[in-house]
Amino acid sequence: MSLELKGAPVAEKIRAGITEKMTMCRMKGVEPMMAIVRVGDRSDDVAYEIQVRRSCEKVGLSYKVFDFPEDITQARFEVEFSIINADPNIHGILLFRPLPASLDEGFISSLVDPGKDIDCMNPENLSRLFLGREDAFPPCTSEAVVEMLKYYEIPLEGANVVIVNRSMVLGKPLAMLLLQENATVTVCHSRTKDLPSIMKRADIVVSGIGKARFFDKTCFSKKNTVIDVGINFIDGRMTGDTDPNTAEVAAAVSPVPGGVGSVTTMILLRHAVDSAWRKANG
Ligand code: NAP
Repeated sequence: MSLELKGAPVAEKIRAGITEKMTMCRMKGVEPMMAIVRVGDRSDDVAYEIQVRRSCEKVGLSYKVFDFPEDITQARFEVEFSIINADPNIHGILLFRPLPASLDEGFISSLVDPGKDIDCMNPENLSRLFLGREDAFPPCTSEAVVEMLKYYEIPLEGANVVIVNRSMVLGKPLAMLLLQENATVTVCHSRTKDLPSIMKRADIVVSGIGKARFFDKTCFSKKNTVIDVGINFIDGRMTGDTDPNTAEVAAAVSPVPGGVGSVTTMILLRHAVDSAWRKANG
Protein backbone atom coordinates (compact mmCIF):
# COMPACT_ATOMS: atom_id res chain seq x y z
CA MET A 1 0.00 0.00 0.00
CA SER A 2 1.12 3.52 -0.72
CA LEU A 3 1.96 6.27 1.74
CA GLU A 4 -1.10 8.42 2.50
CA LEU A 5 -0.32 12.13 2.17
CA LYS A 6 -2.81 13.65 4.59
CA GLY A 7 -3.50 17.37 4.54
CA ALA A 8 -4.13 17.82 8.29
CA PRO A 9 -0.49 17.95 9.49
CA VAL A 10 0.41 20.29 6.63
CA ALA A 11 -2.50 22.58 7.50
CA GLU A 12 -1.48 22.46 11.17
CA LYS A 13 2.07 23.52 10.36
CA ILE A 14 0.76 26.46 8.32
CA ARG A 15 -1.66 27.35 11.14
CA ALA A 16 1.25 27.54 13.61
CA GLY A 17 3.10 29.91 11.26
CA ILE A 18 0.00 32.08 10.89
CA THR A 19 -0.43 32.34 14.66
CA GLU A 20 3.17 33.41 15.07
CA LYS A 21 2.92 36.06 12.33
CA MET A 22 -0.38 37.40 13.74
CA THR A 23 1.38 37.93 17.08
CA MET A 24 4.16 39.81 15.30
CA CYS A 25 1.58 41.96 13.46
CA ARG A 26 -0.16 42.82 16.72
CA MET A 27 3.16 43.81 18.29
CA LYS A 28 3.41 46.35 15.47
CA GLY A 29 -0.15 47.57 16.09
CA VAL A 30 -1.80 45.82 13.12
CA GLU A 31 -4.78 43.49 13.60
CA PRO A 32 -4.97 41.20 10.53
CA MET A 33 -8.44 41.20 8.98
CA MET A 34 -10.02 39.39 6.06
CA ALA A 35 -13.08 40.52 4.11
CA ILE A 36 -15.42 37.83 2.81
CA VAL A 37 -17.53 39.23 -0.03
CA ARG A 38 -20.54 37.28 -1.29
CA VAL A 39 -23.13 38.28 -3.89
CA GLY A 40 -26.33 36.20 -3.69
CA ASP A 41 -26.88 32.98 -1.75
CA ARG A 42 -25.49 30.16 -3.91
CA SER A 43 -25.33 27.08 -1.70
CA ASP A 44 -21.70 26.27 -2.60
CA ASP A 45 -20.65 29.87 -1.76
CA VAL A 46 -22.46 29.70 1.58
CA ALA A 47 -20.86 26.31 2.36
CA TYR A 48 -17.38 27.62 1.49
CA GLU A 49 -18.02 30.76 3.55
CA ILE A 50 -18.87 28.65 6.60
CA GLN A 51 -15.65 26.66 6.11
CA VAL A 52 -13.52 29.83 5.78
CA ARG A 53 -15.18 31.46 8.81
CA ARG A 54 -14.54 28.36 10.91
CA SER A 55 -10.89 28.33 9.83
CA CYS A 56 -10.55 32.04 10.71
CA GLU A 57 -12.10 31.40 14.12
CA LYS A 58 -9.76 28.45 14.67
CA VAL A 59 -6.66 30.58 14.08
CA GLY A 60 -8.09 33.74 15.68
CA LEU A 61 -8.06 35.74 12.43
CA SER A 62 -10.62 38.56 12.37
CA TYR A 63 -12.99 38.71 9.41
CA LYS A 64 -15.89 40.81 8.16
CA VAL A 65 -18.62 39.37 5.94
CA PHE A 66 -20.14 41.59 3.26
CA ASP A 67 -23.13 40.01 1.54
CA PHE A 68 -24.95 41.70 -1.29
CA PRO A 69 -28.23 40.84 -3.02
CA GLU A 70 -27.99 38.87 -6.24
CA ASP A 71 -29.68 41.68 -8.19
CA ILE A 72 -27.18 44.39 -7.15
CA THR A 73 -26.27 46.60 -10.11
CA GLN A 74 -22.75 46.83 -11.51
CA ALA A 75 -22.52 50.52 -10.56
CA ARG A 76 -23.71 49.93 -6.98
CA PHE A 77 -21.43 46.93 -6.49
CA GLU A 78 -18.41 48.87 -7.77
CA VAL A 79 -19.12 51.62 -5.21
CA GLU A 80 -19.56 49.13 -2.36
CA PHE A 81 -16.52 47.13 -3.41
CA SER A 82 -14.31 50.20 -3.68
CA ILE A 83 -15.08 51.00 -0.02
CA ILE A 84 -14.00 47.49 1.06
CA ASN A 85 -10.95 47.65 -1.20
CA ALA A 86 -9.83 50.97 0.27
CA ASP A 87 -10.48 50.09 3.94
CA PRO A 88 -7.01 50.28 5.57
CA ASN A 89 -8.11 47.81 8.27
CA ILE A 90 -8.83 45.08 5.70
CA HIS A 91 -5.74 43.20 4.52
CA GLY A 92 -7.18 40.38 2.43
CA ILE A 93 -10.29 40.12 0.23
CA LEU A 94 -12.04 36.87 -0.66
CA LEU A 95 -14.70 37.45 -3.33
CA PHE A 96 -16.78 34.41 -4.22
CA ARG A 97 -16.93 33.46 -7.88
CA PRO A 98 -18.62 33.09 -10.22
CA LEU A 99 -20.40 36.40 -9.72
CA PRO A 100 -23.98 36.68 -11.03
CA ALA A 101 -24.10 37.03 -14.82
CA SER A 102 -25.36 40.64 -14.45
CA LEU A 103 -21.95 41.67 -13.03
CA ASP A 104 -18.79 42.04 -15.11
CA GLU A 105 -16.55 39.60 -13.26
CA GLY A 106 -13.49 40.28 -15.41
CA PHE A 107 -13.63 44.00 -14.71
CA ILE A 108 -14.38 43.56 -11.00
CA SER A 109 -11.45 41.12 -10.67
CA SER A 110 -9.12 43.78 -12.02
CA LEU A 111 -10.35 46.22 -9.32
CA VAL A 112 -9.12 44.08 -6.41
CA ASP A 113 -6.10 45.73 -4.80
CA PRO A 114 -3.27 43.30 -5.77
CA GLY A 115 -1.85 43.62 -2.25
CA LYS A 116 -5.16 42.36 -0.79
CA ASP A 117 -5.87 39.87 -3.56
CA ILE A 118 -5.44 36.72 -1.43
CA ASP A 119 -7.32 34.49 -3.91
CA CYS A 120 -5.48 35.67 -7.05
CA MET A 121 -8.41 37.30 -8.84
CA ASN A 122 -6.53 40.25 -10.33
CA PRO A 123 -4.42 39.28 -13.37
CA GLU A 124 -1.71 41.49 -11.84
CA ASN A 125 -1.09 38.73 -9.29
CA LEU A 126 -0.74 36.07 -11.98
CA SER A 127 1.66 38.36 -13.79
CA ARG A 128 3.75 38.70 -10.62
CA LEU A 129 3.72 34.90 -10.26
CA PHE A 130 4.86 34.36 -13.85
CA LEU A 131 7.62 36.93 -13.32
CA GLY A 132 8.73 35.01 -10.21
CA ARG A 133 8.10 37.98 -7.93
CA GLU A 134 7.95 37.27 -4.20
CA ASP A 135 5.01 39.61 -3.62
CA ALA A 136 2.65 37.43 -5.71
CA PHE A 137 -0.29 35.71 -4.08
CA PRO A 138 -0.60 32.54 -6.22
CA PRO A 139 -3.97 30.78 -6.50
CA CYS A 140 -4.34 28.99 -3.15
CA THR A 141 -4.81 25.46 -4.53
CA SER A 142 -1.67 25.56 -6.64
CA GLU A 143 0.35 26.79 -3.66
CA ALA A 144 -1.26 24.10 -1.46
CA VAL A 145 0.02 21.37 -3.82
CA VAL A 146 3.61 22.64 -3.51
CA GLU A 147 3.19 22.94 0.27
CA MET A 148 2.01 19.31 0.47
CA LEU A 149 4.97 18.05 -1.57
CA LYS A 150 7.48 20.04 0.50
CA TYR A 151 5.98 18.96 3.81
CA TYR A 152 6.32 15.28 2.84
CA GLU A 153 9.85 15.95 1.55
CA ILE A 154 9.07 14.76 -1.96
CA PRO A 155 12.07 15.98 -3.98
CA LEU A 156 11.12 18.66 -6.51
CA GLU A 157 14.48 19.64 -7.96
CA GLY A 158 14.82 17.80 -11.27
CA ALA A 159 11.62 15.82 -10.64
CA ASN A 160 9.34 15.03 -13.58
CA VAL A 161 5.94 16.43 -12.65
CA VAL A 162 2.81 15.79 -14.70
CA ILE A 163 -0.10 18.16 -14.03
CA VAL A 164 -3.43 17.02 -15.47
CA ASN A 165 -5.19 20.40 -15.62
CA ARG A 166 -4.48 23.57 -17.57
CA SER A 167 -6.81 26.03 -15.80
CA MET A 168 -5.74 29.43 -14.51
CA VAL A 169 -6.59 28.45 -10.92
CA LEU A 170 -4.55 25.25 -10.92
CA GLY A 171 -2.49 23.88 -13.80
CA LYS A 172 -0.86 26.99 -15.26
CA PRO A 173 0.07 28.72 -11.97
CA LEU A 174 1.21 25.39 -10.49
CA ALA A 175 3.53 24.88 -13.46
CA MET A 176 5.13 28.26 -12.66
CA LEU A 177 5.55 27.43 -8.97
CA LEU A 178 7.12 24.05 -9.80
CA LEU A 179 9.48 25.58 -12.36
CA GLN A 180 10.66 27.91 -9.59
CA GLU A 181 11.47 24.72 -7.62
CA ASN A 182 13.49 23.45 -10.61
CA ALA A 183 11.07 20.65 -11.46
CA THR A 184 10.52 19.55 -15.08
CA VAL A 185 6.86 20.12 -15.76
CA THR A 186 4.44 18.60 -18.26
CA VAL A 187 0.95 20.11 -18.39
CA CYS A 188 -1.74 17.73 -19.71
CA HIS A 189 -5.42 18.21 -20.54
CA SER A 190 -8.41 16.60 -22.21
CA ARG A 191 -6.70 16.49 -25.64
CA THR A 192 -3.48 14.89 -24.38
CA LYS A 193 -2.76 11.60 -26.16
CA ASP A 194 -1.91 8.44 -24.22
CA LEU A 195 -2.18 10.17 -20.86
CA PRO A 196 -1.68 7.05 -18.68
CA SER A 197 1.73 6.33 -20.20
CA ILE A 198 2.80 9.95 -19.56
CA MET A 199 1.52 9.73 -15.98
CA LYS A 200 3.26 6.42 -15.27
CA ARG A 201 6.67 7.87 -16.20
CA ALA A 202 6.30 10.86 -13.85
CA ASP A 203 7.77 11.17 -10.37
CA ILE A 204 4.79 13.29 -9.33
CA VAL A 205 1.27 13.39 -10.81
CA VAL A 206 -1.13 16.19 -9.89
CA SER A 207 -4.68 15.50 -10.98
CA GLY A 208 -7.40 18.18 -11.12
CA ILE A 209 -9.82 17.10 -13.83
CA GLY A 210 -12.99 17.16 -11.74
CA LYS A 211 -14.17 13.64 -12.70
CA ALA A 212 -14.95 11.22 -9.91
CA ARG A 213 -12.55 8.25 -9.68
CA PHE A 214 -11.60 8.73 -13.34
CA PHE A 215 -8.02 7.45 -12.94
CA ASP A 216 -7.63 3.95 -11.52
CA LYS A 217 -4.55 1.88 -10.74
CA THR A 218 -3.94 1.06 -14.40
CA CYS A 219 -2.97 4.73 -14.92
CA PHE A 220 -0.20 4.76 -12.30
CA SER A 221 3.15 3.16 -11.52
CA LYS A 222 5.06 2.52 -8.33
CA LYS A 223 7.28 5.56 -8.95
CA ASN A 224 4.29 7.99 -8.79
CA THR A 225 3.54 10.36 -5.94
CA VAL A 226 -0.05 11.40 -6.61
CA ILE A 227 -1.66 14.63 -5.44
CA ASP A 228 -5.39 14.46 -6.11
CA VAL A 229 -6.93 17.93 -6.24
CA GLY A 230 -10.30 16.87 -7.67
CA ILE A 231 -13.44 17.52 -5.67
CA ASN A 232 -16.33 15.38 -6.91
CA PHE A 233 -19.37 13.79 -5.37
CA ILE A 234 -20.85 10.30 -5.76
CA ASP A 235 -24.20 9.87 -4.00
CA GLY A 236 -23.43 12.94 -1.88
CA ARG A 237 -20.01 11.62 -0.77
CA MET A 238 -16.89 13.55 -1.66
CA THR A 239 -14.33 11.79 -3.80
CA GLY A 240 -11.28 12.72 -5.84
CA ASP A 241 -10.28 12.09 -9.45
CA THR A 242 -8.46 8.89 -8.48
CA ASP A 243 -9.97 5.54 -7.63
CA PRO A 244 -9.08 4.25 -4.14
CA ASN A 245 -7.29 1.30 -5.80
CA THR A 246 -4.58 3.79 -6.91
CA ALA A 247 -3.11 3.24 -3.45
CA GLU A 248 -2.33 -0.39 -4.40
CA VAL A 249 0.15 0.82 -7.04
CA ALA A 250 1.45 4.36 -6.46
CA ALA A 251 4.24 5.21 -4.00
CA ALA A 252 2.14 7.87 -2.25
CA VAL A 253 -1.35 9.32 -2.71
CA SER A 254 -3.21 12.25 -1.13
CA PRO A 255 -6.75 11.26 -0.08
CA VAL A 256 -10.02 13.05 -0.89
CA PRO A 257 -11.41 14.14 1.49
CA GLY A 258 -8.54 14.71 3.90
CA GLY A 259 -5.90 15.88 1.42
CA VAL A 260 -5.28 19.20 -0.32
CA GLY A 261 -8.58 20.88 0.69
CA SER A 262 -7.72 21.88 4.26
CA VAL A 263 -4.28 23.07 3.13
CA THR A 264 -5.86 25.31 0.49
CA THR A 265 -7.99 27.09 3.10
CA MET A 266 -4.98 27.63 5.36
CA ILE A 267 -3.02 29.13 2.45
CA LEU A 268 -5.86 31.62 1.94
CA LEU A 269 -5.59 32.68 5.58
CA ARG A 270 -1.81 32.85 5.35
CA HIS A 271 -2.10 35.21 2.39
CA ALA A 272 -4.31 37.55 4.47
CA VAL A 273 -1.84 37.54 7.36
CA ASP A 274 1.14 37.99 5.02
CA SER A 275 -0.62 41.02 3.55
CA ALA A 276 -1.12 42.43 7.07
CA TRP A 277 2.55 41.75 7.84
CA ARG A 278 3.61 43.69 4.73
CA LYS A 279 1.49 46.58 5.95
CA ALA A 280 2.95 46.34 9.46
CA ASN A 281 6.39 46.72 7.90
CA GLY A 282 5.40 49.78 5.93
P1 NAP B 1 -11.58 23.18 -14.85
O1 NAP B 1 -11.34 24.61 -15.17
O2 NAP B 1 -12.82 22.51 -15.32
O3 NAP B 1 -10.32 22.37 -15.42
C1 NAP B 1 -10.33 20.98 -15.56
C2 NAP B 1 -9.09 20.57 -16.31
O4 NAP B 1 -9.09 19.15 -16.42
C3 NAP B 1 -9.03 21.13 -17.74
O5 NAP B 1 -7.71 21.53 -18.04
C4 NAP B 1 -9.45 19.93 -18.59
O6 NAP B 1 -8.87 19.91 -19.88
C5 NAP B 1 -8.89 18.79 -17.77
N1 NAP B 1 -9.60 17.54 -18.05
C6 NAP B 1 -10.92 17.30 -17.95
N2 NAP B 1 -11.20 16.03 -18.29
C7 NAP B 1 -10.02 15.46 -18.62
C8 NAP B 1 -9.64 14.17 -19.06
N3 NAP B 1 -10.55 13.19 -19.23
N4 NAP B 1 -8.34 13.92 -19.28
C9 NAP B 1 -7.42 14.89 -19.12
N5 NAP B 1 -7.71 16.14 -18.70
C10 NAP B 1 -9.00 16.42 -18.47
O7 NAP B 1 -11.53 22.93 -13.29
P2 NAP B 1 -10.69 23.67 -12.13
O8 NAP B 1 -11.42 24.88 -11.67
O9 NAP B 1 -9.27 23.82 -12.55
O10 NAP B 1 -10.79 22.60 -10.98
C11 NAP B 1 -10.32 21.28 -11.18
C12 NAP B 1 -10.72 20.36 -10.04
O11 NAP B 1 -10.09 20.82 -8.86
C13 NAP B 1 -12.24 20.34 -9.73
O12 NAP B 1 -12.59 19.04 -9.31
C14 NAP B 1 -12.35 21.30 -8.56
O13 NAP B 1 -13.48 21.01 -7.76
C15 NAP B 1 -11.08 21.00 -7.84
N6 NAP B 1 -10.62 22.07 -6.94
C16 NAP B 1 -10.10 21.68 -5.75
C17 NAP B 1 -9.65 22.62 -4.86
C18 NAP B 1 -9.04 22.16 -3.56
O14 NAP B 1 -8.73 22.97 -2.71
N7 NAP B 1 -8.84 20.86 -3.36
C19 NAP B 1 -9.72 23.99 -5.17
C20 NAP B 1 -10.21 24.37 -6.42
C21 NAP B 1 -10.65 23.40 -7.31
P3 NAP B 1 -9.27 21.01 -21.02
O15 NAP B 1 -8.54 22.26 -20.63
O16 NAP B 1 -8.78 20.40 -22.28
O17 NAP B 1 -10.77 21.15 -20.95
